[in-house]
Amino acid sequence: MAYFGCHLSSSAGFLAMGKTASSIGADTFQFFTRNPRGGRAKALDPADAAALCAWMREHQFGPIVAHAPYTINPCSAEPRTREFALETMTDDLHRMEAVPGNYYNFHPGSHVGQGVEAGIAMIAETLNAIMWESQQTTVLLETMAGKGSEIGGRFEELREILDRCDYPERMGVCLDTCHVYDGGYDIVTDLDGVLTEFDRVVGLHRLKALHLNDSKNPFASHKDRHEKLGQGSLGEGIFHRIAAHPALRELPMVLETPNELPGYAAEIALLRGGK
Ligand code: FE
Ligand code: FE
Ligand code: ZN
Repeated sequence: MAYFGCHLSSSAGFLAMGKTASSIGADTFQFFTRNPRGGRAKALDPADAAALCAWMREHQFGPIVAHAPYTINPCSAEPRTREFALETMTDDLHRMEAVPGNYYNFHPGSHVGQGVEAGIAMIAETLNAIMWESQQTTVLLETMAGKGSEIGGRFEELREILDRCDYPERMGVCLDTCHVYDGGYDIVTDLDGVLTEFDRVVGLHRLKALHLNDSKNPFASHKDRHEKLGQGSLGEGIFHRIAAHPALRELPMVLETPNELPGYAAEIALLRGGK
């Protein structure tokens, strides 16, 4: 069985997130490392981080996913913006060592007219500057909807970034169902075909986590607007197939649907086969 959870507010600290996750039937969760719009992170409390690790062991959680602020852009045309991405990600990765063995997911970036190749080179350069051999965190590239000049809307682009990384063992991919469907991969009619394509281009062993979201927009719309499970263009069935898929077992699957906690609890129950 996969691990199921949702995005949680990190404002009350690490252990509080673990307890909230347990209270809604989750055994993983995602959180922003800092305000999603960027800015300074709260001081990290090592005792609180250790308490979460103990809670996760005790309650048999799967790996959790830290999400970088979505405003950083490691392939901006502005050197200062790239520098800000590098500093933010460096700080985040060092903080993640307090909760070792988990994931740090980020949106690869937008090349803003510089071209896909130039963007990919800058993203890989940033990763190589901030990662180190013995780090305990695996860094995940999120599959994107291909909105504007976003990189990561094609599996080939993710593969190219991974190929340029100095620490491939510490890299992986997080597949967002809304994004790939918006991006033109039809998981609804052919989930196995898309997974086969992912395996061929990236390698299924590099798939480390999923974001489970329905989409407010039709197939291949390149829009990226999340919807509650079953209420968008993907429909409920695909989420049952994903939750039960043998190739996706043991992966953390995180909801980023427009919900408060009771809505998330209901979606987690749905994924676990309740109703
Ligand atoms: Fe994301
Ligand atoms: Fe996502
Ligand atoms: Zn999204």
